[in-house]
Amino acid sequence: MKLQHCAREAALLDAVRTDRCDEDLRAHAASCAACGEVLLVARLMNSHAREVASSAPLPDPGPIWWKAELQQRRDAAARAARPIVLAEKVAQIAGIAVGGVLLIWRWPLVQEWLSAVSALAEGARAMAPIFQANLLLIGSLALLPLILALSLLGTARASD
Ligand SMILES: [Zn+2]
Repeated sequence: MKLQHCAREAALLDAVRTDRCDEDLRAHAASCAACGEVLLVARLMNSHAREVASSAPLPDPGPIWWKAELQQRRDAAARAARPIVLAEKVAQIAGIAVGGVLLIWRWPLVQEWLSAVSALAEGARAMAPIFQANLLLIGSLALLPLILALSLLGTARASD
Protein backbone atom coordinates (compact mmCIF):
# COMPACT_ATOMS: atom_id res chain seq x y z
CA MET A 1 0.00 0.00 0.00
CA LYS A 2 1.40 3.35 -0.97
CA LEU A 3 0.85 6.25 1.43
CA GLN A 4 -0.58 9.33 -0.18
CA HIS A 5 0.31 12.79 1.02
CA CYS A 6 -1.23 16.09 0.23
CA ALA A 7 0.14 19.57 0.82
CA ARG A 8 -3.16 20.68 2.37
CA GLU A 9 -3.30 17.92 5.02
CA ALA A 10 -1.82 20.09 7.76
CA ALA A 11 -4.23 22.91 7.02
CA LEU A 12 -7.13 20.45 7.00
CA LEU A 13 -6.07 18.94 10.35
CA ASP A 14 -5.73 22.39 11.88
CA ALA A 15 -9.18 23.33 10.59
CA VAL A 16 -10.77 20.17 12.00
CA ARG A 17 -8.97 20.61 15.35
CA THR A 18 -10.25 24.18 15.70
CA ASP A 19 -13.66 23.35 14.22
CA ARG A 20 -13.17 25.86 11.36
CA CYS A 21 -13.41 23.69 8.31
CA ASP A 22 -14.55 25.96 5.45
CA GLU A 23 -16.26 25.00 2.16
CA ASP A 24 -13.01 25.14 0.19
CA LEU A 25 -11.32 22.56 2.45
CA ARG A 26 -14.42 20.34 2.47
CA ALA A 27 -14.57 20.41 -1.31
CA HIS A 28 -10.87 19.56 -1.49
CA ALA A 29 -11.30 16.68 1.01
CA ALA A 30 -14.14 15.30 -1.11
CA SER A 31 -11.94 15.22 -4.19
CA CYS A 32 -8.57 14.25 -2.54
CA ALA A 33 -8.26 10.68 -1.20
CA ALA A 34 -5.57 11.49 1.37
CA CYS A 35 -7.40 14.53 2.76
CA GLY A 36 -10.70 12.59 2.74
CA GLU A 37 -9.17 9.94 5.01
CA VAL A 38 -7.57 12.56 7.20
CA LEU A 39 -10.89 14.39 7.56
CA LEU A 40 -12.75 11.16 8.41
CA VAL A 41 -10.21 10.00 11.00
CA ALA A 42 -9.84 13.47 12.53
CA ARG A 43 -13.62 13.82 12.94
CA LEU A 44 -13.83 10.37 14.55
CA MET A 45 -10.95 11.19 16.92
CA ASN A 46 -12.49 14.54 17.81
CA SER A 47 -15.87 13.00 18.60
CA HIS A 48 -14.21 10.26 20.65
CA ALA A 49 -12.18 12.85 22.55
CA ARG A 50 -15.36 14.83 23.30
CA GLU A 51 -17.11 11.67 24.57
CA VAL A 52 -14.20 10.76 26.84
CA ALA A 53 -13.89 14.32 28.14
CA SER A 54 -17.59 14.52 28.95
CA SER A 55 -17.87 11.04 30.54
CA ALA A 56 -14.67 10.99 32.61
CA PRO A 57 -15.18 12.56 36.01
CA LEU A 58 -12.66 15.18 36.96
CA PRO A 59 -10.72 14.55 40.16
CA ASP A 60 -11.52 16.59 43.24
CA PRO A 61 -9.45 19.78 42.98
CA GLY A 62 -9.12 20.15 46.76
CA PRO A 63 -6.39 17.53 47.33
CA ILE A 64 -4.58 18.63 44.18
CA TRP A 65 -4.59 22.22 45.38
CA TRP A 66 -3.52 21.14 48.87
CA LYS A 67 -0.62 19.08 47.51
CA ALA A 68 0.48 21.96 45.28
CA GLU A 69 0.45 24.37 48.23
CA LEU A 70 2.32 21.85 50.37
CA GLN A 71 4.95 21.40 47.67
CA GLN A 72 5.20 25.17 47.30
CA ARG A 73 5.78 25.55 51.05
CA ARG A 74 8.41 22.80 51.03
CA ASP A 75 10.18 24.44 48.12
CA ALA A 76 10.09 27.82 49.87
CA ALA A 77 11.44 26.28 53.09
CA ALA A 78 14.21 24.52 51.17
CA ARG A 79 15.08 27.78 49.40
CA ALA A 80 15.13 29.64 52.71
CA ALA A 81 17.29 26.98 54.38
CA ARG A 82 19.81 26.81 51.53
CA PRO A 83 22.18 29.46 53.01
CA ILE A 84 21.98 27.76 56.42
CA VAL A 85 22.80 24.36 54.94
CA LEU A 86 25.68 25.91 53.04
CA ALA A 87 26.98 27.58 56.21
CA GLU A 88 26.72 24.24 58.06
CA LYS A 89 28.75 22.48 55.41
CA VAL A 90 31.37 25.23 55.40
CA ALA A 91 31.54 25.06 59.21
CA GLN A 92 31.90 21.25 59.12
CA ILE A 93 34.68 21.42 56.58
CA ALA A 94 36.40 24.21 58.49
CA GLY A 95 36.06 22.25 61.74
CA ILE A 96 37.57 19.15 60.19
CA ALA A 97 40.40 21.21 58.69
CA VAL A 98 41.13 22.98 61.98
CA GLY A 99 41.00 19.65 63.84
CA GLY A 100 43.44 18.14 61.38
CA VAL A 101 45.79 21.11 61.65
CA LEU A 102 45.61 21.01 65.45
CA LEU A 103 46.25 17.27 65.44
CA ILE A 104 49.31 17.68 63.24
CA TRP A 105 50.54 20.77 65.09
CA ARG A 106 50.14 19.23 68.56
CA TRP A 107 51.07 15.65 67.64
CA PRO A 108 53.63 15.28 70.47
CA LEU A 109 50.95 16.24 73.02
CA VAL A 110 48.53 13.76 71.45
CA GLN A 111 51.12 11.00 71.67
CA GLU A 112 51.74 11.87 75.32
CA TRP A 113 48.01 11.78 76.05
CA LEU A 114 47.61 8.43 74.27
CA SER A 115 50.44 6.89 76.27
CA ALA A 116 48.88 8.24 79.51
CA VAL A 117 45.54 6.70 78.57
CA SER A 118 47.13 3.33 77.83
CA ALA A 119 49.00 3.45 81.16
CA LEU A 120 45.71 4.21 82.89
CA ALA A 121 44.08 1.26 81.16
CA GLU A 122 46.89 -1.04 82.28
CA GLY A 123 46.50 0.27 85.83
CA ALA A 124 42.78 -0.46 85.70
CA ARG A 125 43.54 -3.98 84.45
CA ALA A 126 45.88 -4.46 87.39
CA MET A 127 43.14 -3.29 89.77
CA ALA A 128 40.54 -5.63 88.24
CA PRO A 129 40.89 -8.53 90.76
CA ILE A 130 40.44 -6.13 93.68
CA PHE A 131 37.43 -4.56 91.99
CA GLN A 132 35.91 -8.00 91.36
CA ALA A 133 36.36 -8.98 95.02
CA ASN A 134 34.71 -5.75 96.13
CA LEU A 135 31.87 -6.30 93.69
CA LEU A 136 31.30 -9.79 95.09
CA LEU A 137 31.22 -8.43 98.65
CA ILE A 138 28.84 -5.60 97.76
CA GLY A 139 26.62 -7.99 95.83
CA SER A 140 26.39 -10.45 98.70
CA LEU A 141 25.63 -7.61 101.15
CA ALA A 142 22.85 -6.40 98.84
CA LEU A 143 21.38 -9.91 98.73
CA LEU A 144 21.38 -10.25 102.54
CA PRO A 145 18.14 -8.25 103.11
CA LEU A 146 16.42 -10.24 100.38
CA ILE A 147 17.48 -13.54 101.96
CA LEU A 148 16.32 -12.33 105.37
CA ALA A 149 12.94 -11.21 103.96
CA LEU A 150 12.41 -14.56 102.24
CA SER A 151 13.27 -16.49 105.37
CA LEU A 152 10.86 -14.31 107.41
CA LEU A 153 8.11 -14.96 104.87
CA GLY A 154 8.88 -18.68 105.01
CA THR A 155 8.58 -18.75 108.82
CA ALA A 156 5.38 -16.65 108.69
CA ARG A 157 3.75 -19.12 106.28
CA ALA A 158 4.93 -22.07 108.31
CA SER A 159 3.32 -20.61 111.43
CA ASP A 160 -0.07 -20.07 109.65
ZN1 LIG B 1 -5.56 16.83 -0.20
